[in-house]
Amino acid sequence: MEITFNGKRALVTGAGKGIGRVIVIELMKCGAQVVALSRTQSDLDSLKAEYPQVEIVLCDLADLQESNKIIAGLGDFDLLVNNAAIAKCGSFLDTKCSDVADMMNINVNAVINVSQVVVKSMIRRGVGGAIVNISSQASMAALADHVGYAATKGALDSATRVMACELGPKNIRVNAVNPTVITTDMSMAGWSDPARAAWMKERIPLGRFGDPIEVAQPVLFLLSDKASMINGTTIPIDGGFTAC
Ligand code: NDP
Repeated sequence: MEITFNGKRALVTGAGKGIGRVIVIELMKCGAQVVALSRTQSDLDSLKAEYPQVEIVLCDLADLQESNKIIAGLGDFDLLVNNAAIAKCGSFLDTKCSDVADMMNINVNAVINVSQVVVKSMIRRGVGGAIVNISSQASMAALADHVGYAATKGALDSATRVMACELGPKNIRVNAVNPTVITTDMSMAGWSDPARAAWMKERIPLGRFGDPIEVAQPVLFLLSDKASMINGTTIPIDGGFTAC
């Protein structure tokens, strides 16, 4: 099964490193014209150096008003991947509501904000489109020390379903994927301790953490016409973690 995005323009947020960066690269390999948005210039510069065809945009999605203006100035998109997120983890009793609010702002509010701008232009052009939100297994199964992060990803799953419901009639599909631990900067902050990593791997039937490409490939499928009847789903990419 070959996936092609020739003639399609895609926006990927949080594209400087980790999963977002790999999604950008895989989309370009399939022919998409990609705009990579992130908040660290050096990450974007290194992406551009490797892949000169990528368009790069420096933008801090935490500033909703400013990012709304920046994204509105980027032109039209057919595909959107809401990947940018932050994780501030800690025990339930030590969790600060200010940290939860920061996560909610980027992991949920910014997703709604970015999607509104992109979807308005899809609707105006009458072309349809596809959106994938990068959620987490943390929305589906309790994980100690993740109370705020899990709550934001649960909210993102709910937002995904409502968006799918409202935007389906406009031929805009919205889905989410829910990865387990994937080896990136974000996850290694919490899972580099060998004992903690071993504890988690024992609970993943495939016995290992995932690689960013193992998220990127299902994301490309969901964005593609091969997934033309899939809308409003939240799909675990977790080696079986949530099945057990
Ligand atoms: P990384 O931290 O490795 O990369 C996240 C990217 O998002 C970075 O480029 C970061 O930029 C960017 N970003 C963060 N905040 C903002 C912002 N306010 N504005 C613009 N860009 C921003 O994360 P991962 O690749 O690991 O995670 C990607 C997605 O996958 C996230 O939604 C995460 O919740 C989800 N996920 C990850 C898992 C994992 O184990 N890695 C597991 C389950 C879900 P900068 O570096 O400059 O901050």
